[in-house]
Amino acid sequence: MADDCIFCKINIGEIPSEKLYQDDDCFVIRDIAPKAPTHLLIIPKQHMTYLTGMTPEFQPVIGAMYKAASLMAVAEGVADAGYRLIVNQRDDAGQEVPHLHMHLLAGRRLGPMG
Ligand code: AMP
Repeated sequence: MADDCIFCKINIGEIPSEKLYQDDDCFVIRDIAPKAPTHLLIIPKQHMTYLTGMTPEFQPVIGAMYKAASLMAVAEGVADAGYRLIVNQRDDAGQEVPHLHMHLLAGRRLGPMG
């Protein structure tokens, strides 16, 4: 838990948000400003901002995030059509929330990246 972290506050229920999925390591919510018909955020419960400097103890959490993403793609009915997973890190990527998270985008042709 980090003070003034919006995703930590959602994790403990201080800020309301429907959790579509959760396990011991991560939870999933809908993005408040969706960029595609399906736009989910996969968020680790433990506060961490950057992948750089990740400790070995955190590595299983990364696996849990991918597992959650794959389960949610099935649950949202987009697994067969396709989806995109994005992790923004720091300024050049436009990271807005300094708590690690993965975007799942789907539901339309996402086009080439860039
Ligand atoms: P990023 O730019 O990768 O840091 O993405 C942060 C994402 O968090 C943005 O897509 C925001 O729309 C989303 N976001 C910010 N606050 C909330 C919230 N309270 N509930 C859901 N999504 C949020």
